[in-house]
Amino acid sequence: MKTINQLPNLKGQRVIVRVDFNVPLKDGAIRDDNRIVQALPTIQYLIKQEAKIILMSHLGKVDFKDPVQTADDMKKNNLSPVAGRLAELLKQPVTFSDATRGDKLKFWINTLENGQVLLMQNTRYEKGETKNDPELSKEWASYADAFIMGAFGSAHRAHASTVGIPTVLKEQGKPVAVGYLVEKEVKNMTKCVDVKPEGHPYVALLGGLKVSDKIKVIESLMKKCDKILIGGAMAFTFYKALGHNVGTSPFEADQLDFAKKCYEDAKGKIVLPLDVVVADAYDGWKEIRTVLISQIPDGFMGMDIGPKTEKLFAAELLKAHTVFWNGPMGVFEKKEFTNGTIAICQAVKTLGRKAFTVCGGGDSAAAVKQFGYMDAFSHVSTGGGASLEMIENDGHLPGIDVIGD
Ligand code: ADP
Ligand code: MG
Repeated sequence: MKTINQLPNLKGQRVIVRVDFNVPLKDGAIRDDNRIVQALPTIQYLIKQEAKIILMSHLGKVDFKDPVQTADDMKKNNLSPVAGRLAELLKQPVTFSDATRGDKLKFWINTLENGQVLLMQNTRYEKGETKNDPELSKEWASYADAFIMGAFGSAHRAHASTVGIPTVLKEQGKPVAVGYLVEKEVKNMTKCVDVKPEGHPYVALLGGLKVSDKIKVIESLMKKCDKILIGGAMAFTFYKALGHNVGTSPFEADQLDFAKKCYEDAKGKIVLPLDVVVADAYDGWKEIRTVLISQIPDGFMGMDIGPKTEKLFAAELLKAHTVFWNGPMGVFEKKEFTNGTIAICQAVKTLGRKAFTVCGGGDSAAAVKQFGYMDAFSHVSTGGGASLEMIENDGHLPGIDVIGD
């Protein structure tokens, strides 16, 4: 994998950087600019090199089935507010191209002088983007002398802007590389994929809502890990599969066979909760209780792991040399059910640098940030889905692989 530092000097060259500016917007205002901030080192390096910088990113989704919906999606996912915020952070003007193809886009790119930055409108305004359309890729590639993959969060998608452009440029013998953020992410995530002997015991902790979302992750971790701790709603699918009463807890009926087989194959590797915090309703509950997992009352649902489980999981984590965590332990969005997730953060903090600790996944990373434990981890991935797919696919992502030889 070539990194940005390994490229020849890019002075005066037109460089397309695929960034991840898929920021949360509310009424056109940016609620969290972290993704823009994370892209700055790569952009600033290119400014210093006096390249002509063309930034491309998707924002949200655009549906092309129904014209009314399409217009609505485009309005909602307009990338232009990001240009303003980026200009503030870079302390220099950013040109915004409303056009995503054709003469108008070409015109704006031609106005770029060395060290100047242009942001193109949302790549998903083009129908061909998510289809990795060859015509679109060819056109975009024709505007560039080099390509930098800077969007780890989009590297699991083989789209025109992530895979199409570098494919065309490589065929033309033009340089392609990954930026600083991707380099950092890949370096860290790889340590959870290829774990050296000294990295064991390797303990994975899984939570969140659905087993079905995580089947491939579970299968991959089963091969790599010494222990898999399972909390969150996912645990109830396992308990149901093992014949327990789970009350009104969420479970996936179509995943029971998978969960049962998985548990049996794991031969003691999988550790399930001992106790659970239950409520008589998901919203507007009248009663919250902490009970043993074997004693979930009828009409109650599990909302968080209980204190005995917190201790059990913490004890397992404290033995680890490598930890990968995905999925909150409970409904952490409601303050009554944050304890389990916070206890895990605290255990990782206690573990400190005695282990290599990674948190990956959109909601999990949000929880770590919300509870103030970013520094407790060796690495909190910005990738969401991409970090999980990296585990699933043994370190391979289409947007990264394309950069390699
Ligand atoms: P990530 O985005 O980190 O991969 P998921 O999307 O799989 O994580 O899961 C996050 C969601 O799981 C959160 O919205 C949280 O409320 C939910 N969740 C966790 N535990 C429970 C539970 N016991 N019951 C219902 N939802 C739960
Ligand atoms: Mg999620």
